[in-house]
Amino acid sequence: MDSPSVVIVGAGLAGTVLGRTLQKRGWSVQIFQHNKPGSATPVAAGLWNPINFFRLTPGWRVEEALPAMRDFFEAEEKDLGQPFLNHRPYVQPLLHHEHRIHWQDAASKHPRWLDADWQGAGKAGLERFERAWGVRAWGLVREAGWLDVEAYVRACCLRWQSQGQWVDAHWNEEYPRGHAHVVDARGVFAQHADRFLARLKPAQGELVEFTLPNGPSSVMIKRDLFLQPLGQDRYRAGATFEWQECSPVPTAQGQAKLRAGLVQLLGEDLSGAYDFEYKAGIRPAAHDRRPYVGAHPHGNQRWVFNGFGAKGVLLAPLLAGELAAAMEGHGHLNPESDTKRLSRPLC
Ligand SMILES: Cc1cc2nc3c(=O)[nH]c(=O)nc-3n(C[C@H](O)[C@H](O)[C@H](O)COP(=O)(O)OP(=O)(O)OC[C@H]3O[C@@H](n4cnc5c(N)ncnc54)[C@H](O)[C@@H]3O)c2cc1C
Repeated sequence: MDSPSVVIVGAGLAGTVLGRTLQKRGWSVQIFQHNKPGSATPVAAGLWNPINFFRLTPGWRVEEALPAMRDFFEAEEKDLGQPFLNHRPYVQPLLHHEHRIHWQDAASKHPRWLDADWQGAGKAGLERFERAWGVRAWGLVREAGWLDVEAYVRACCLRWQSQGQWVDAHWNEEYPRGHAHVVDARGVFAQHADRFLARLKPAQGELVEFTLPNGPSSVMIKRDLFLQPLGQDRYRAGATFEWQECSPVPTAQGQAKLRAGLVQLLGEDLSGAYDFEYKAGIRPAAHDRRPYVGAHPHGNQRWVFNGFGAKGVLLAPLLAGELAAAMEGHGHLNPESDTKRLSRPLC
């Protein structure tokens, strides 16, 4: 029997993870990708974090999503022959009594993820931050890190190009598809192209990359912004969230917010940082903060893999497996992310 075939529309991180998942399950995959300004993936910091920093509670389905993510990208590292995963704990300075109590309370409930009294600041070279900020204690988030999204997506693209499965073109409804299934992984660009996806809530984001001599390299720091070591004295800080004006390019307002966050992290002189590069993109966030994964309400072998917001790295591998099973006619879609809710009116 011929292998089932699928057209994936959009090879951002979502379409890429799904395409690779289906291919490994024996599907014949064709990828349509047309670069559009404002895509999320080219600017994604790639961070995964098991907890929510404000509430200090575990993220949605993290106990399943984290091992699925690790297994998926470790297998991809082997298959594509290069590293993508960077395991790095997140640390947060606790500057006020109330903040420390909040952390202690959360760490007692979630000891797997949180340590409210991390003692590794000296070893991690954070003394100067401790002095400058008047740190009382450090909180640590375990099992965090970042995916080299750019390298991963590029490696998959090259693999598909070499296999003749890559189409560098804008896909539209008129495209003849024979018996192939079609998956919409167009990110935010589906919002105006498909009335069922009109309830996407795009969230523009900006971040900045720069060189910082002698910065911390073994941990990521979280204050208003995150500080992410990329290696070889290169760092990334961000990200802003803007729900009103979704500019596909960096804005003066975004740069001002990033600059204020950098001053908070590095001091007025920015600790000698230089060579700044500002970037912007639009996160395809869902109206209820759960991805859209499942059959398209129109049916006809059409599917949706979208709405990943700021959580593409952590959630896409788990949900790609679930969507693949549904496309094969078995398995179970999670009711919170199932696209069935797209055909119900908003309350
Ligand atoms: C500033 C910023 C920081 C972020 N940081 C993180 C982070 O630290 N961790 C994390 O997990 N996530 C992060 N994200 C979110 C992450 O980028 C997304 O969750 C993830 O990339 C999934 O995006 P996507 O593939 O759904 O959409 P996109 O990346 O937007 O991809 C959709 C693709 O479809 C293409 N396309 C659209 N229409 C068509 C068509 N008709 N034909 C062909 N191609 C088409 C577009 O050109 C685009 O390339 C961040 C996002 C931003 C903006």
